[in-house]
Amino acid sequence: MASIQLDHIRHAYGAKPKSPSDYALKEVHHTFDDGGAYALLGPSGCGKTTLLNIISGLLQPSEGRLLFDGRDVTHLATEARNIAQVFQFPVVYDTMTVFDNLAFPLRNRGVAESEVRRRVSEIIDMIDLGALADSKAQRLTADSKQKIALGRGLVRSDVNAILFDEPLTVIDPHMKWMLRSQLKHLHRRVGFTMVYVTHDQTEALTFADRVVVMYEGEIVQIGTPEELFERPRHTFVGYFIGSPGMNVLPISIEGRTARVDGMTVDLPVPVAIPPGARAELGIRPEFVRIGREGFPATVTKIEDIGRHRIVRATLGGLEIAAIVPEDAEIPTDPRVSFEPRGINVYADSWRVGSEAGA
Ligand code: ATP
Repeated sequence: MASIQLDHIRHAYGAKPKSPSDYALKEVHHTFDDGGAYALLGPSGCGKTTLLNIISGLLQPSEGRLLFDGRDVTHLATEARNIAQVFQFPVVYDTMTVFDNLAFPLRNRGVAESEVRRRVSEIIDMIDLGALADSKAQRLTADSKQKIALGRGLVRSDVNAILFDEPLTVIDPHMKWMLRSQLKHLHRRVGFTMVYVTHDQTEALTFADRVVVMYEGEIVQIGTPEELFERPRHTFVGYFIGSPGMNVLPISIEGRTARVDGMTVDLPVPVAIPPGARAELGIRPEFVRIGREGFPATVTKIEDIGRHRIVRATLGGLEIAAIVPEDAEIPTDPRVSFEPRGINVYADSWRVGSEAGA
C-alpha cells in the first residue's frame, strides 16, 4: 500500500496547449493517504478517467509528477507500478475455473502454491463465490464475473493501490447495492489504498471515506460525505451532491445582511466579498423551511417521495426547492425562511471562508 501524491499534475491531449481550456486536467495537487478509500466523482468529461490513467501509468501527464510513498513513478510503466485495476467490463478468463481466475495474478508472479491456496480461499469467501470455485467462468452471470474481477483486484497483498474504473456499471441495481457494501467492508478488512471512479453519487458516498469531486478538469473538493453535504466549497458540489441539489441564489451583501431579489436574509457571520466578484447564497433544500414565517412564496409543485416531500416554489423571481416532512402542513399563503446553519455564501462560485481548491 502507498500514499499517492499528485504533484502539480496537468494534462492536455493536444500538442502545445495554450489556454486552461486546452487541458483535460488543469492543475491537480493533492495527496491520497495510504490506506484511504477515495471516490473520483464528477460528470462525464470532467477528467476522472484521465486522472486514473495517469495514476495507473496508461497515460503520462503533460506536466507534474506522480509519487507513490514519496517515490517518483511518473515515468514507470503500469507493470512496474505494482497496482491492481478493475475495469467497467470484467476481464475474466472464461475457460478457467473461478478459483484459477483468482489465482492467476499470484501464480503469474511465482507465489508458492500453498500461499496461492490460502489467499484465494480467503478472497473467494469474501466475494461469496466459494460454492462455484470449480466452475468454469463462462457459465457465470455478469454479476459473478464482476465479482471475480473485484476478487482478482484484491487477491495480491503487495499492491500499492487498487484502481476501479466504474466497476459496477454492468451490474443490476440490487446486486450493485450488495457489491458496493461488500467492497466497503473489504476495504475495512484489507486496508488497501483504493481509488474508485464513478459518476454516481450514491456509489461514491457509500464506498468512499473521502470523495474527490471533479469539475471541468479540476478537483473542486475532497471531503467526507458530511463535509460535501454541509459545506460545499464550490457551488458545483452543492448542485451535484444531494437530491435535489443546493439552491444557489444571486445576492448582494452589506455586512451581515444578504439581499436576495429584494428580500433580506441575516447571515450567521459577516462576510466580505472581493470587489467585482459574483455573490451567491447557497442553501440546501433540507434547510429551507416552508411555513408562516419569512418571505411570501408561491408553491408550484409538490413531489411525494416517501419519507418526505420536495416542494418547489418561486420566491420573488427565483425558483427554490425545499424538503419538508411527509406530514408537515403547507399553509395556503406559504412563506419561506432559511435555517441559519444551512447558509453558505459564495464569491465567484467558491465558498467564502474556505480556501479555493480542496
Ligand atoms: P466519462 O465519465 O465520460 O468517462 P471522465 O470524467 O472520465 O468522463 P475523461 O475521459 O478523463 O473524463 O475526459 C476529460 C476530457 O478529455 C474530455 O473533454 C474528453 O473529451 C477529453 N479526452 C479524453 N480522452 C481523450 C483522448 N484520448 N484524446 C483527446 N481528448 C480526450
